[in-house]
Amino acid sequence: MSEVMNVEEIFASDVFTLGKMKEVLPKDVYKEVKKVMDEGGELSMSAANVVAKAMKDWAVENGATHFTHWFQPLTGITAEKHDAFVTHPDDSGKMLTEFSGKELIKGEPDASSFPSGGLRATFEARGYTAWDITSPAFLKESGCGTILCIPTAFCSYTGEALDKKTPLLRSMQALSEQALRIVRLFGNQGATKVTASVGPEQEYFLVDKELYMQRPDLMFAGRTLFGAPAPKGQEMEDHYFGVIKERVGAYMKDLNIELWKLGVTAKTQHNEVAPAQHELAPIYETANIAVDHNQLVMEAMKRVAYKHDMRCLLHEKPYAGVNGSGKHNNWSITTDNGVNLLDPGETPNENIQFLLVLACIMKAVDTHADLLRQSASDVGNDHRLGANEAPPAIISMFLGEQLDDVVRQLVETGMAKSLKEGGKLMTGVKTLPDLDKDATDRNRTSPFAFTGNKFEFRMVGSADSIASPNTILNAIVAEAFCEAADRLEKANDFEMEVHDLIKEYMTKYQRIVFNGDGYSDEWIMEAEKRGLPNIKSMIEAAGSLTTEKAVKLFEKFGIFTKTELESREEIIYETYAKTINIEALTMIDMAGKQIIPAVVSYTKNLADTINAVKAAGCDASVQVDLLKETSALLGDMREALSDLKKAEAEASAMADVKEQAFFYKETVMNIMQQLRTPADKLEMIVDKSMWPFPTYGELMFEV
Ligand code: ADP
Ligand code: MG
Repeated sequence: MSEVMNVEEIFASDVFTLGKMKEVLPKDVYKEVKKVMDEGGELSMSAANVVAKAMKDWAVENGATHFTHWFQPLTGITAEKHDAFVTHPDDSGKMLTEFSGKELIKGEPDASSFPSGGLRATFEARGYTAWDITSPAFLKESGCGTILCIPTAFCSYTGEALDKKTPLLRSMQALSEQALRIVRLFGNQGATKVTASVGPEQEYFLVDKELYMQRPDLMFAGRTLFGAPAPKGQEMEDHYFGVIKERVGAYMKDLNIELWKLGVTAKTQHNEVAPAQHELAPIYETANIAVDHNQLVMEAMKRVAYKHDMRCLLHEKPYAGVNGSGKHNNWSITTDNGVNLLDPGETPNENIQFLLVLACIMKAVDTHADLLRQSASDVGNDHRLGANEAPPAIISMFLGEQLDDVVRQLVETGMAKSLKEGGKLMTGVKTLPDLDKDATDRNRTSPFAFTGNKFEFRMVGSADSIASPNTILNAIVAEAFCEAADRLEKANDFEMEVHDLIKEYMTKYQRIVFNGDGYSDEWIMEAEKRGLPNIKSMIEAAGSLTTEKAVKLFEKFGIFTKTELESREEIIYETYAKTINIEALTMIDMAGKQIIPAVVSYTKNLADTINAVKAAGCDASVQVDLLKETSALLGDMREALSDLKKAEAEASAMADVKEQAFFYKETVMNIMQQLRTPADKLEMIVDKSMWPFPTYGELMFEV
């Protein structure tokens, strides 16, 4: 018998939930907290003091010694600075722990060492963190002991957002306001708020710690920079949904427990397509909480891997030639009286509100395809998007057969009279039930797919924060709702106007809908004909943040100022240049100090063998050929290595970050490839015992 695990008891045991607040707070304080949570506004200082004390008492009872304002700077990961609850001892030397409302609400970390994209000179280093009351405080256990973490937003002294959360919260507010205008037009007076919900499916790789430690590329760059393909990759399709290995299973079990304690609804786990690749999906929740929780998921994945003598790789492309990792960002919008605006119902062709919402989303996605593309880009994702894998770099929308047909009818005739039905799936076996069939099959190749009652944005990178994609989604849809509401609120004949508007939008923006194979070359040509942008890389996408169209959108809804956008664009170039620089330096190190010396030893062995074979009076032509081949490849490596050193030095000296980023992409990356190609060929020739690193086969199959 295995031990009983009480998931209900474990769940959220490390979270200061609303339920716990209700138990410990005086009624009036609890009411005030709830009101601010639901309606916004500020908590009074007296209430904040009471909440802080209750929060500290709970945290201390559960072993906490420190608190931290937990925030999400523009590095894409989280930041924390711990402060103990200790205070001045009294005359007798006794110390009483304390935590005030002021400390709860506001923090003041030194902002100078976080990326700001020129927003703040280092001598004006003041930055503030502000408590996000809508995301619950939690306890984090680590080597440091137990820390009370307070989710916060992070801004500069002059009020500019220095983090990923502030714009997300602003975008949620904009979406709520504009979506409310839409539902009111359809008679829903009861709704007071519309919330974006997000469920991110997180992919990851596991690798044995000992093997990982022998790979400087994995340690410094998070991905392999050298490595010949293993004899077996993913071609047998035996890993996806395959039986989970014991060691991986034990890891998943621990990971689930850690996440449940933190109130993360870890729900689904399975093997992914590539060997040693896996996925975890939680149940969807309010966007800002989903963003926080996804950060916790990524952190926990890494932390738990340590305990199991493994490492977790979140990079989008740890290994060339096999599937990379992404994050499917499932997104929907729901009113607080329970209406999912993306639920088509039984008869979507007659559901005018749904059709209007759909038309608005088509408009939003087509108008701002470049922004969506940008929001899903990070350095690692450049190896996936548009690189023959995962969704292509072109944004399109998949609606499925049924909705596609509805849109076509509306565009052609202004009415959608018929509806393609799902029907029954006959199993043909008497003892098996026949199944109700969905009206639409799945499409795995679409970057933005309608999946029943939500959109699944599949471009997002596995290592990236999901804050940006959701900020953009909320913002662009808010804008489309706003424009539609502006028109419809003024209409004399609402029925006519909404009918015209749906037809007009669907006609105008139909080009963004594509239901075919997004991986095919035909689609790339077709998309070009349709005029859809095909933005190939992160740095080419960066400029979309500061176009006139983007600035207008973000300023209109108070999501970003122009200055904030410019700073974010600059950070993208900086991040790109720094990342590729680390990769280049790592390659220089590995090639110069490990691969080339190993190959030199190997050629010496070969030369000795040739002499010995010849001395024995035998034909050594095979060995001679091998030596020639090896020496030629070694020569190629030497040349590329020297080119890479020069290019890296040239890049490092560049002053303009944008120019520098493009130089890294167009020059340095190419030379990196020129260095890798002969090295990977050599790996296939050189005696395995002399090769300095574990192979792809070992990395992916020895987990
Ligand atoms: P798949 O079959 O694509 O793996 P699932 O239906 O299992 O998808 O859901 C994947 C993710 O989408 C989960 O995180 C799930 O909670 C989330 N999800 C489901 N419904 C919604 C919704 N209405 N809004 C947002 N996310 C949702
Ligand atoms: Mg999915």
